[in-house]
Amino acid sequence: MDEKSASATVGDRPGREGDPDDVDRFLVGEIRRGDQRAWKQLIDRYHGRLTAFARGRLRDAAEVDDTVQEAFVGFVTSLPHYDESRPLETYLFTILRYKVGEALSRRKRGGEIGRGARDDDDAMDVADPSGSETPSGIAANEEVRRRQERLLADILRRLIAELREREKLEDVQVLEMLFFLGLRNKEAADRLGRDEKSVAGVKFRAIQRLQAFLDEIRAASGSEAALDHSELSGEATIARVWRERRLTCLKRSTLGSYLLGVLEEPWEGFTRFHLDVVECPMCRANRDDLNTPTASVPASDPNERIFQSSVGFLSRTGG
Ligand SMILES: [Zn+2]
Repeated sequence: MDEKSASATVGDRPGREGDPDDVDRFLVGEIRRGDQRAWKQLIDRYHGRLTAFARGRLRDAAEVDDTVQEAFVGFVTSLPHYDESRPLETYLFTILRYKVGEALSRRKRGGEIGRGARDDDDAMDVADPSGSETPSGIAANEEVRRRQERLLADILRRLIAELREREKLEDVQVLEMLFFLGLRNKEAADRLGRDEKSVAGVKFRAIQRLQAFLDEIRAASGSEAALDHSELSGEATIARVWRERRLTCLKRSTLGSYLLGVLEEPWEGFTRFHLDVVECPMCRANRDDLNTPTASVPASDPNERIFQSSVGFLSRTGG
């Protein structure tokens, strides 16, 4: 793989040809129409990685299976509220994370001492996305917020693409530390073995570029883009958008190449960094899923149980 094609896979996001998101969009469309085969396909597609994610947080296999099943049921019942501009995989992980949290607190109430949630568990929205009804009163605000987040995601994507094209992956890593992990300049500098000033410089230049992209969009659209410059310093918002949109996350194909040892530098190093230093829980779940030997999958189809338990909700959604 040459660098150019590798660069197109690392942290790439929607809108490209052959993008897995297109498959997701197609499946979701069919599921919304009540197509049971599409629902089964979606379960088959995501079951492995969701199970790998739950396995890292829950102790016994039955609890893992139940929680993954609950997440799928949660998804299908919340389908009317699902915003398709958000990546499906992230949405499923968010629901699963919530269900894992529920399972952990159930266990706690049962008087057991659990392993507890990992540190990263509070880093995402903890509200149950599958349980959220949207009363009409807050729907308008919700729409404004979504527009702002889409715009923010757009300019962040441009920034990351630009840094990637220039092979400034070290800068992307600094930004992952600051924005994905929410570290302070000093902490990020220490962990990267850089000095604090250079980290601050990377951040400063990034904010400047984001402002420039925002101005470009404003000029091009001719209208007031729904994002204030001050939003750019709202680091909590940037962090949330960065995580939810998986801006620097790895494609399954990239993780596959990485596991096969055929990913070249600097992408190999970038992948290792994202998995082992940033410890992105979603990419790690994908890696673990890809790492699971096919032979260990039981002969009976475990996804059939999930399908049977959730398909009833489908017809109610599809009507
Ligand atoms: Zn990731």
